[in-house]
Amino acid sequence: MSKSLKVLFIEDSVEDAKLAVAELVRGGFQTYFERVDSPVALQIALEKFNWDLLICDFSLLQINAEQALKLLDNSNKDIPFIVLTRSVKAEDAVNLMRRGAQDFLSKETLVRLVPAVERELREVAERRKRRKAEKRLKTLSLAVEQSPVSVAITDQNGIIEYVNPKFEEITKFQFAEAIGRNLDFTVVSHSTEGIFNELWETVQRGKNWTGEFCNLKKDGEIFWEYANIAPLVDSDGLITNFVAVKEDITARRNYEEQLLRQSHYDDLTGLANRVLMLDRLDIAIKAAHRNNEQVALFCIDLDGFKNVNDTLGHSVGDDLLREAATRLGTCIRGCDTLARMGGDEFVVILPQIRDDIVVRRIADRILSAFAEVFEINGNDHFVTASIGIVLFPNDGKDNQVLLRNADLAMYKAKDLGRNRYQFFTEEINQKLKERMYLETRLRKVIVQGELVLHYQPIVDMQNHLPVAYEALVRWRQCDGELYMPASFIPLAEDVGLISEIGEWVVSTACAEVSSRRGQPQLIPRIAINVSPKQLQVKGFAAYIKRQLIDSGLQPEQLDLEITERVLVDDEPETHINLKFLCDFGVSLSIDDFGTGYSSLGYLQKYPFSTLKIDRGFISRVIHDKNSARLVEAIISMAHGLGLKVIAEGVETAEQLSFLLPTFCDQVQGFYFSPPLPAESLPYSNKSLLPA
Ligand code: C2E
Ligand code: MG
Ligand code: MG
Repeated sequence: MSKSLKVLFIEDSVEDAKLAVAELVRGGFQTYFERVDSPVALQIALEKFNWDLLICDFSLLQINAEQALKLLDNSNKDIPFIVLTRSVKAEDAVNLMRRGAQDFLSKETLVRLVPAVERELREVAERRKRRKAEKRLKTLSLAVEQSPVSVAITDQNGIIEYVNPKFEEITKFQFAEAIGRNLDFTVVSHSTEGIFNELWETVQRGKNWTGEFCNLKKDGEIFWEYANIAPLVDSDGLITNFVAVKEDITARRNYEEQLLRQSHYDDLTGLANRVLMLDRLDIAIKAAHRNNEQVALFCIDLDGFKNVNDTLGHSVGDDLLREAATRLGTCIRGCDTLARMGGDEFVVILPQIRDDIVVRRIADRILSAFAEVFEINGNDHFVTASIGIVLFPNDGKDNQVLLRNADLAMYKAKDLGRNRYQFFTEEINQKLKERMYLETRLRKVIVQGELVLHYQPIVDMQNHLPVAYEALVRWRQCDGELYMPASFIPLAEDVGLISEIGEWVVSTACAEVSSRRGQPQLIPRIAINVSPKQLQVKGFAAYIKRQLIDSGLQPEQLDLEITERVLVDDEPETHINLKFLCDFGVSLSIDDFGTGYSSLGYLQKYPFSTLKIDRGFISRVIHDKNSARLVEAIISMAHGLGLKVIAEGVETAEQLSFLLPTFCDQVQGFYFSPPLPAESLPYSNKSLLPA
């Protein structure tokens, strides 16, 4: 196959050029050629074309070979330059070869021309290839030098031979300090745990390895790197070096660690949070299962914490929680987990339990830790702990059951008087089952029409006529027995059924009042008990308003009885509901006054019109002087605040006589009437004073 060849002759003689071309054609070159004979023409020709070969006579009229070589050199082109001449002195030939001519041939014997051209073409091709490779290498090495990531190159044994400036900048180790050391010399050993074996195995098999390392800078600062370590292989496929390209990921790692902390630890106390606690509990349960051991779980609730928090503010509450966490921490063993579940509730997991001696010892230690006064901001606070204890596997096989049962045991400890620990028992379990059964039935109470309202008159102190009736709910069982509210209202509040029941009470009572208009058993006003939970529901007030309008009642005919709890809970939605109702004209009473935490001062939070003194005080007024004085004081202070007073639970004539000089406004109690079904209510224009 013929090879194409573009030849530029620097030659005076056209004939000589043609002879040479003929020789090249004979040698298999498909030759294109031009001829120049002056420096200017040569320059133009060099610029306009990429010549494969220059053939130059030694000396022409206007230019000689030496000048031609210079012009070629200036053009920055690498083109084989062959001098083809008739005769020349050896020293001239040597001189020209030194200046870059590739060969020196005689016009007399052209036989050497073709082999010389072939050789030169080969060599120039080699030269160009080499130059390209050199250029690439230079670019690569510049890229490594100026790389924004750290690069280290090692020998086959992992000994560093090269590090780039970024490596120096990140690690603070200079080139000379890094050379000759092992690639892992900056790595913190605990961050690697066995990954080095895997790393070397991978790269020695000729594969890339990637992973993250924790490192130490020369100044001791910690930093994280994402490393890609790759073997370098020579033309025989043998590994000669390893190159490690490493990116500083400290910022990302720090952020990840922060997220991890936030999702596993409690911000306030630094203890494990619920998520981490559940994980630890899982691990403890699995280990106990394997080793035939037990796990104890404590559910700890601080007694009276809510009071501190509500009365002294959250910042004091927070300090107290932190101090409580510290004290709890001193009571447990190294292998135990202490967690904060939120609020004032803590959990302790005690793994590796073989008998309950250790469990009791730790529980006792916790109780004594809380026996000491909490001194916060220079004030003393007494806060104790109630602890519920469960043991895996006896009291539950999984997280959920264990936590629920520990919680129940904790509530039992509170019931028994707080500041104590209580193991979960079969009796607690039984109570739970009963409660669950009751709950299932309570959920259907409305649909099945099992609720009934009874009404108890509230009587005017002077004329003993009923001024209002208090609606009291009962739950009728299939055997006719009536369950009293105390046995199901707290449960309804707990399981979220109170709103539904409350709405039934409101609509039924309103309907009953309006249906009794004009009858002798007229109900002049109605008092309805409202749970604090109902007041927290958005739209509660609007519901009441609608019921009043629908049944044609005036707002003044309704009185809502609210227990003191509502004052302490202080929920924003409660404010909104109560304000709406007052603006509408409904009146508010504070029920069971004296049983909660509130003081008379609290009453000014909401526009109450009436205060109902709890039955507990009235029942003691005859035999207990203190109670008597207290009742008198409450009445006069309530009057001072512009409130009417109702005495609840008046059962005897003596109690009534005691109340007479106190100016108590109204009374309510079995002495006048028990709560009755609507159809059995007494006539409203008759005195209820027993004959
Ligand atoms: P309360 O609002 O203080 O109602 C008065 C309670 O005292 C009623 O008990 C009543 O039967 C009882 N009582 C009245 N006079 C006497 C007396 O002279 N001697 C004695 N020993 N007791 C008397 P009841 O009906 O068992 O209701 C208990 C509590 O349940 C109520 O206390 C009220 O807080 C709550 N409750 C009743 N009905 C409802 C309701 O519809 N919704 C809500 N949220 N709570 C209700
Ligand atoms: Mg009441
Ligand atoms: Mg009451």
